[in-house]
Amino acid sequence: MQQPPKFDVIVVGAGPSGNAAAYTMAQQGLKVLQLERGEYPGSKNVQGAILYANALEQLIPDFREDAPLERHIIEQRLWMLDDVSYVGMNYRSDDFNEEKPNRYTIIRAPFDKWFSRKVRDAGATLLCETTVTELIRTEAGKVIGVRTDRDGGVVLADVVVLAEGVNGLVGQRSGLRNQLKPETVALAVKEMHFLPRETIDSRFNLKGAEGVVIEAMGTITGGMTGTAFLYTNQESISVGVGCLVSDFKTGADSPYALLERFKTHPSIAPLLEGAEVKEYAAHLIPEGGYKAIPSLYGDGWVIVGDAGQFVNSLHREGSNMAMTTGRIAGEVIVKLYRTRAGFTTATLAEYHARLRDTFVLKDLKKYKDLPSFLHGNRHLFNTYPRVLSKAAQTWLRVDGADKRQKERQILSMVRKSRTVTGLLGDAFRLARAWR
Ligand SMILES: Cc1cc2nc3c(=O)[nH]c(=O)nc-3n(C[C@H](O)[C@H](O)[C@H](O)COP(=O)(O)OP(=O)(O)OC[C@H]3O[C@@H](n4cnc5c(N)ncnc54)[C@H](O)[C@@H]3O)c2cc1C
Repeated sequence: MQQPPKFDVIVVGAGPSGNAAAYTMAQQGLKVLQLERGEYPGSKNVQGAILYANALEQLIPDFREDAPLERHIIEQRLWMLDDVSYVGMNYRSDDFNEEKPNRYTIIRAPFDKWFSRKVRDAGATLLCETTVTELIRTEAGKVIGVRTDRDGGVVLADVVVLAEGVNGLVGQRSGLRNQLKPETVALAVKEMHFLPRETIDSRFNLKGAEGVVIEAMGTITGGMTGTAFLYTNQESISVGVGCLVSDFKTGADSPYALLERFKTHPSIAPLLEGAEVKEYAAHLIPEGGYKAIPSLYGDGWVIVGDAGQFVNSLHREGSNMAMTTGRIAGEVIVKLYRTRAGFTTATLAEYHARLRDTFVLKDLKKYKDLPSFLHGNRHLFNTYPRVLSKAAQTWLRVDGADKRQKERQILSMVRKSRTVTGLLGDAFRLARAWR
């Protein structure tokens, strides 16, 4: 019988985390096989998408020379919406028009293809349209390879990197991680609205490759825990909304209904007017934060990216955590390979130890109580936006009432919606969740 092929490392998945891991190891001369179930890298992937330059720079310092970037972000808008208004905070700075901008909008399909080309140029072998169905383990439980859906599709390796994204079915089937819980994962839907470049520039007050992003929350999610976004690309606008799966199970609204509500909101609709909608996609986002992180390593395996729940939902950071966890896993594997230390639970523990010193685990730990705070306080998504909007309107209308009267009206609104002690309690709990 023919022996199955053997590699130093198998990477399952060709998203940002798998690409970062495969690139790091292939560059250092390891024999890397990357398996991707999609027709091509990026074909199955959905993201807003904001790319954070720093994480990619650690891997490919000159990425700006040929990466398919859309716009660099010079303005961030944070909007709290009620049904007809928004209360917002905008930050725009010409400082972001720097030689090496810090954040970009991207479109995942071309970006993933570009990243994958770099991985292959570094020496990794990529096999697309190949789904890993299970891990192959010795009797003692050590992972020694994978089984795929190809004929006779067994491949062996010294270590397997699971970069399979949020669903993590291979890890689940093999008992390395638990099934996703509906309250720790969001379902996001997204559309691409195409408009001429000049129209986008004039609507958002942009020139050259400048871009604007809007992050929004409020009554658009019908009281469910979630947020919406609008990102400018060169000739399109990405629009999306996401809420916890547990809320969709009990709530009245479908994801598509929420997206419609966002798109037709009086503050959003004029930004999209006349656009041609070409793509609609849905994807899960891990939102459980620090407390939902599974075991990250074991005998012959490590988990990186979304499969490890590495998403900071408050700051909308996921791809940078994916790239950073992939890179660090790759660096640890290269070191163990060179020192012939073996890929055991004890040696691979260095991966977790190194992550503790990065922004990835530091940030997720900092916000560890935030998911439960947000999930337990729905009034943040409906009552507060309404009160804030009414208060702003009362204050801004000049109607003969004196300012002391206006103050009293606003205080009375706040009291009626939720007691002042309730507000103080929320502020206190938020500060604790944040600390
Ligand atoms: C709507 C939306 C908006 C987002 N916006 C942002 C944003 O603006 N900025 C940001 O940083 N992050 C954002 N994120 C999060 C970001 O997309 C993820 O954190 C990131 O893609 C994780 O990368 P990954 O490589 O771990 O997983 P993925 O990108 O999900 O890649 C996993 C890959 O593994 C493949 N795969 C899965 N199972 C198998 C298998 N069994 N065999 C072979 N291949 C397999 C998949 O096809 C896929 O290509 C957003 C996510 C969503 C859904």
